[in-house]
Amino acid sequence: MRPDLAACYGEERLPRYTSYPTAPHFSPAVDGDTYAGWLNAIPRHVKASLYLHVPFCRQMCWYCGCHTQIASRDEPVSAYLALLCRELELVSRQIGRRLEIGHVHFGGGSPTIMRPEAFLELIGAIRRRFEVLPSAEIAVEIDPRTLSPAMIESLRRGGVNRASLGVQSFDPAVQRAINRVQSFEATAAAAVALREAGVTGINFDLIYGLPHQTVASCLETVGSCVALRPDRLSVFGYAHVPSFKKHQRKIGENHLPGGPERLEQSCAIAGALKRAGYLQIGLDHFALPDDAMAVAQLAGRLRRNFQGYTTDTGEVLLGFGASAIGRLPQGYVQNETTVRGFCGKLAGGGLATVRGYALSRDDRLRGDIIERIMCDFGVDLGSVCARHGAASEPLLKSSRRLQELVSRGVVALDGCSLAVSEDSRFLVRSVAAAFDAHLGGSSRLHSRAV
Ligand code: SF4
Repeated sequence: MRPDLAACYGEERLPRYTSYPTAPHFSPAVDGDTYAGWLNAIPRHVKASLYLHVPFCRQMCWYCGCHTQIASRDEPVSAYLALLCRELELVSRQIGRRLEIGHVHFGGGSPTIMRPEAFLELIGAIRRRFEVLPSAEIAVEIDPRTLSPAMIESLRRGGVNRASLGVQSFDPAVQRAINRVQSFEATAAAAVALREAGVTGINFDLIYGLPHQTVASCLETVGSCVALRPDRLSVFGYAHVPSFKKHQRKIGENHLPGGPERLEQSCAIAGALKRAGYLQIGLDHFALPDDAMAVAQLAGRLRRNFQGYTTDTGEVLLGFGASAIGRLPQGYVQNETTVRGFCGKLAGGGLATVRGYALSRDDRLRGDIIERIMCDFGVDLGSVCARHGAASEPLLKSSRRLQELVSRGVVALDGCSLAVSEDSRFLVRSVAAAFDAHLGGSSRLHSRAV
């Protein structure tokens, strides 16, 4: 990894490109009526995916960047779940048939905050409205601190086969500074119990760049994680945006690692995971070689969606719940962000969509190019442009950022084929940004490139 490039590009605030264009470009021009029309036009052959957002946690982690709120009682969660079921009914009615589903993802927040019987009711409501295929991946984000045996049993009965466990760091000083105290023993017990219940896919989420975090503490955390042999790990840099996420003000900025230290931590974690037998997937995921995500990357089938890297190749993603984002062939839709606003919309009998984005031909072309760069660290512009009936030459010539990245050796161009250099892969978002026609204006909402 070249320090000169880290100094030049590392502080840039750029999108993570989990969509193109990114969410700050969504507008109210796409509303519930637009979404209803798009749902009605879903082609017959399409296999879809579902994302259900559960925006409640028992306690706020100071680093949190998710749409969530604190619920100390069960009642607000139950009331919300009732409206989530109503949204399932409204959307499926609008589609007009039982759509085949290949992926279901429960995210949050902490989905396992639900009462175990409520989770079974919710998954029952999904199965009544949609044709969840026997081969479907059903994934749940899990807070190991509050995972009960009864919930594990409900996950088993509900057919859950993948769990993402929030870990972040096992360093007690870091855990205190981020208001998330979670022992290794609790995490290990959760992973073992889930596997025994048949939830065979286990992901761990780690973060670097947290207050008091050091290379040594990152390596210790990786060592503890590797001992539990998760199939996948995601490793994100902490995004400090206190003007946007007010609880992040509780994090002392003078305890945050600077740019060079963040880079060292990121490299140290990646090196340790590779030595432990994991393959790096794209920018920030790691997987065992026989894991489906590693296989997809090798085959050039890796995709990117709002959860990050994915094996999900579905053309339609339906989002349910407050702030949930969906993707349809025509564009993106997003629900009312707050729980109160979401519940108000559903209680009023309408869809909860409040913004979105209708894709143009140029957006589709650039979106495909950006996705391939993020997934494969390179792209054959000629073949992507040919698929879209466009010429690659103007794209190559019009991007000053691309020309600069080529001159600095970040990118190698061979005709119309572009490859990110091995030692510059940490700058893949900067390379993707060279094809972003909407870049600028929303940088304070994005995280640093490193
Ligand atoms: S458990 Fe996850 S979603 Fe909830 S506050 Fe912590 S980081 Fe945010």
